[in-house]
Amino acid sequence: MPTLAYRGRFAPSPTGPLHLGSAYTALASWLLARHAGGEWLIRIEDLDPPREVAGASAAQIDTLSRLGLSSDLPVLWQSQRHHAYQAALDRLLANGQAFACHCSRTDLAAAGGVHRTCRAKRTRATPAIRLRVSDADVISVHDAIQGGYRQSLAEVAGDFVLRRADGLWAYQLAVVVDDAAQGISHVVRGCDLLDSTPRQVALQRALGLPTPHYAHVPVLLGADGQKLSKSRRSDGFDSGDPLAVLNRLWALLGQAPLPCADAASVSAWLTTAAAAFRPEAVPSSAAMAFSAIPA
Ligand code: GLU
Repeated sequence: MPTLAYRGRFAPSPTGPLHLGSAYTALASWLLARHAGGEWLIRIEDLDPPREVAGASAAQIDTLSRLGLSSDLPVLWQSQRHHAYQAALDRLLANGQAFACHCSRTDLAAAGGVHRTCRAKRTRATPAIRLRVSDADVISVHDAIQGGYRQSLAEVAGDFVLRRADGLWAYQLAVVVDDAAQGISHVVRGCDLLDSTPRQVALQRALGLPTPHYAHVPVLLGADGQKLSKSRRSDGFDSGDPLAVLNRLWALLGQAPLPCADAASVSAWLTTAAAAFRPEAVPSSAAMAFSAIPA
């Protein structure tokens, strides 16, 4: 995959319909990509069948396309990528950076769930696989919106899971393998994933993969102060009036009103918006009430 100056992505999990918070992240990542003259891809992170909602991925792709946001390359489905995750895991196991772990949640409860050493009282038929983290793994990330972020992996995450005991792939492994395989240069996503970034950087280093640029946008909060949720119906939005949604998200991105606020088409709106977008105006708070501006 050739190295691109800018290739971004939006990577929803199909656990329900897109809410305004996910549309906000999608639009932010699209605008940052297009403003930089770059490409933008959609990846469906369908790795957790028990949490998946039937029809959600198709509905998400449809909502994005109503907002004018479509993938420049065919959508990548993580459920089709098991071989790639297995190959990465095999490399980490072969060089001793990953290990099989029989610990249960109960075994780790006294350590706050953070794994530093195995405490398993019995062995399992299918152990989890973890990445070995050392005390020296203090990872610093420069985030284009949030600024510097530093984390001691040993204290916060410990030896973290790459493949769960139930056989499911961990988000951390899949996201790192796929961001690299898709040649993603810039990861733009919600601030709730900022604290996952050091784990992903550690995994990139362990696998000899490049670290993309990161930008974490505020998470939108509902009137109750809670993060919007795909599983709460009330957090959905009406994609029947895409220009109204786009204008609302635009204001939440800290942008001055567009001359084309009542553009004739979504694509005309997006073209003007990409040119007028000011990345430096995107709010740097970790979270933001979406009711802060009038509908
Ligand atoms: N699939 C994750 C989510 O829906 C996002 C992963 C990412 O952007 O790295 O929250």
